[in-house]
Amino acid sequence: MSFSSETKAELCRIPVSRDCCAVAEAYGLLLYAHSFSHTEISMVTSSEPLAKRIPPLLARAFGVAVTSQEKSAGGRITLRISDPVQLERIFSKLGYDWEYHMTYHLNRNVIEEDCCRAAFLRGGFLAAGTVAGPDKKTHLEISTSHHALCREVMSLMLDMELMPKFATRKTASLLYWKDTAGAEDFLTLIGAQHAAMQMMQAKVEKQLRNKVNRRVNCETANVIKASNAAAEQIMVIRQALERGGWEVFPDALHETIRLRLDDPSASLSELAAKCNPPLSKPGISHRLRRIVTIAKAAQEEQQ
Ligand SMILES: [Zn+2]
Repeated sequence: MSFSSETKAELCRIPVSRDCCAVAEAYGLLLYAHSFSHTEISMVTSSEPLAKRIPPLLARAFGVAVTSQEKSAGGRITLRISDPVQLERIFSKLGYDWEYHMTYHLNRNVIEEDCCRAAFLRGGFLAAGTVAGPDKKTHLEISTSHHALCREVMSLMLDMELMPKFATRKTASLLYWKDTAGAEDFLTLIGAQHAAMQMMQAKVEKQLRNKVNRRVNCETANVIKASNAAAEQIMVIRQALERGGWEVFPDALHETIRLRLDDPSASLSELAAKCNPPLSKPGISHRLRRIVTIAKAAQEEQQ
């Protein structure tokens, strides 16, 4: 099941406690429905829980019944209301003029209360929303082919301190969020707390993983750098010893050379600790640099 479907299933488990909110949620569904006109209302969804939620919701909000319900081979469910008496009942409840049927405008009188605004947006998201899974880049959108409606809902959202972005895509106008905090706020407001939580957890995990990866990469790079340096030291020391013997190096450096050759993978700190008396890390580092300089100089002399 996609994250959108999961989120819609979660929203469909929310009980509608107040009559005002039943009307508001139904209003959101209708405005973002496939068609909402004085001749027909049709709602198309691939969400089974939503198809189950719509009939009782419309019955409670407007006292109407769904005329027909069909499921296509692809699993899309279409619910229709085509009886003029029922359509008129819906229109009058929403404060629309039956003769002029300006359906695709937001009548704010229907959604005055905060509870109703959240319910309205839940209806809109259920009908026309999608949200990308927490494992993907954040993207939550609600789209409609009605530009004016999109603008009016945007201004409603701004009043509610939700900060969607606006865009048009072919014939669709959409409100969307690409920021996780904005998407989470919206999901929480419309009642999808669980989905919002999943997004938040995924984000935190990703940040942690990145942090750990950066540290591991950094440590790996240091180890490679250190072992490259050790390999170079050993190579020039061996060449110098083969050609000129131990006399090439001052006696004071012989111990360090032996330690280096005996343990190629030892770190500077490990080598420093093995010296007698023990050296500091800068001390051993200085000695190794001197050894390499002497070995290289000896090599050049011989050439
Ligand atoms: Zn309400």
